Amino acid sequence: MSIKELRTKAKDAGFDISPRANKIDNQLANDIKQALTGTNQESTETKAEQPAKAVQLPEFIKVRDFAELLNLPATEVIKTLIMNGVMATINEEIDFDTATIIAEDLGFSVNQEKTQSNSQIGVGFLQEQLAAEEQSDLQPRPPIVAVMGHVDHGKTTLLDAIRETNVVAGESGGITQHIGAYQIKVKDQLITFLDTPGHEAFVEMRARGANVTDLIILVVAADDSVRPQTIEVINRAKFTNTPIIVAINKIDKPTANIPKVKQELSEHGILTEDWGGKVIAVEISAKQNQNIDKLLEMILLQSEIENFSANPQGKILGTVVESHLSQGQGPVATVIIQNGTLKTSDIVVAGIGHGRVKSLEDEHGNKLKSAGPSRPVLISGFSDLPEAGDILQTTENLDQARELSLIAKKIKRSRRLTARPKLQGDSDNKSLNLILKADVAGSLEAIKQSFAKLHNDEVQINILSEGVGEVNENDVLLAESTKATVLAFSVKANSKAENLAKQKNVSIDHYTVIYELLENVTNAVIEMFTPEMERVSFGRGEILEVFMTTKTVMIIGGKVKTGEIRKKAPIAILRPDSEGELAEVGRAEIEELQQNKVTTKEVSEGNEFGMKLKTKVRLQAGDILESFEENLKQKTL
Ligand code: GDP
Repeated sequence: MSIKELRTKAKDAGFDISPRANKIDNQLANDIKQALTGTNQESTETKAEQPAKAVQLPEFIKVRDFAELLNLPATEVIKTLIMNGVMATINEEIDFDTATIIAEDLGFSVNQEKTQSNSQIGVGFLQEQLAAEEQSDLQPRPPIVAVMGHVDHGKTTLLDAIRETNVVAGESGGITQHIGAYQIKVKDQLITFLDTPGHEAFVEMRARGANVTDLIILVVAADDSVRPQTIEVINRAKFTNTPIIVAINKIDKPTANIPKVKQELSEHGILTEDWGGKVIAVEISAKQNQNIDKLLEMILLQSEIENFSANPQGKILGTVVESHLSQGQGPVATVIIQNGTLKTSDIVVAGIGHGRVKSLEDEHGNKLKSAGPSRPVLISGFSDLPEAGDILQTTENLDQARELSLIAKKIKRSRRLTARPKLQGDSDNKSLNLILKADVAGSLEAIKQSFAKLHNDEVQINILSEGVGEVNENDVLLAESTKATVLAFSVKANSKAENLAKQKNVSIDHYTVIYELLENVTNAVIEMFTPEMERVSFGRGEILEVFMTTKTVMIIGGKVKTGEIRKKAPIAILRPDSEGELAEVGRAEIEELQQNKVTTKEVSEGNEFGMKLKTKVRLQAGDILESFEENLKQKTL
């Protein structure tokens, strides 16, 4: 059957396949096949019984290598690609999904496991590896603590105060560089603090699934109590199962109301001891250095209960918390080591960056020879800049490291190419209907907060439904009936929803970075704005004398007062109204423009001119002629 015929028949059978789609997945293909032929193609089993040759495919493969792998002429592979609507040359790369479809078309069975997929560089890999460590090899490690809370509640002041205690305690020379995390010693025990500037770094890391935090210090100002970001932190802690210690800050203020804070926290499920719960709350003044020691003790106490551990001799793994280009050292990244012990000259890879570790530095600017579990360390020697949330691991040789960083590069590129769908609003009704699904309530809040910036009088953003968790069939059905787009942030769609979305031609757009989502929504909004006419004035002249008047043509003499008069540009005729204000009374076209009786294209400021004009307005001496241009201008936010 021809593709066209298939499209028509599939449509008649109720499948709504986008006319632009050039490939569909196996599940949908099966459903269509079943609907059209009545046969159930779950017979992959029977197929498997036939001696279909099994192949294993990488994440990306060049057409040439692919043909070689299948032991087929490249022309045949290219022909099959074209038949599937994929125009790829012999040197181009195709992705795993495309290669699978083609291989199966050519009678191969594809081992579903992608070799060297992102599963080797993603967060899931880290979790898997950590879980795989032998219990008996595990040793206690310092807790990794994040200070979070509403803006202005005192996070920065508290992190500074904690740093200070370390100096007072006489630790090596104080913290000299902000590397995104630091370690302090309390009663001979270490605590690691994440010190990433701003909230965004956390959101970004969390958005990518990374979670290095063992303990959250939730800062709540006693004079302000629970606020939206406080709730966001509480929700995030719940979803990630991270214990919270509450720091009730600013108790030095006369307006401090500690019982109110505790009561409001209890309303959000954070039950402190006064409220019959187990959450530790410490009343502090970060500014006046009050009870900071007590807070630190409580962190140690809580860590003892939680028993954080890692294998210092195990596989080296860590998470990037910050990175930047250093003038002297090139790409550098602060990594919190989560397992194993990293040494200088180890070969590492983190996201798109790989290389041999040139130097390891702590927050005091000290060079280290090695860094073990929970140690934040500034690493130099990367080829490219890793991103916050990337997993760091070591490889045996540079080739392997390069290969993993290449995969990360390709994933990043394909994310850029494919994960940035264009959002389409309803231009007639000037509205953008959205259904939001996200991994955690915190992300939802952050997304909605970012939408607030898009508020305008012309185009409306309607969030018809929102929620935490996978995109489900209800979301798709709602999207279909309301012509909405489903925005899925760091969540998948379940397979039923995915199939339904394909049938109903509903878009599910996936994002993992909030600003990308925001950018797409912004562009969709801007595109719906009605463009405005923008008038650009080139200059003005005054009519000194009217020489000749007919019904439609006039010859005048005048002088350019400002700017210039251009022959090609239209003329606006301005005349003082009853209040002396210049008002436009009509327009004109220049048929002839002269300076010193010589025809010219433009006359500039200070010069006299003669002009033949086409207009219906009766011109008179004293009228102002404005030479201008009008452009369509896309409105911005
Ligand atoms: P962040 O936005 O959470 O990092 O808050 P900052 O640490 O920047 O603090 C916000 C404001 O609150 C600053 O003006 C601080 O000086 C002030 N502040 C922080 N902690 C205290 C405190 O314990 N007592 C008082 N009175 N003010 C504080």
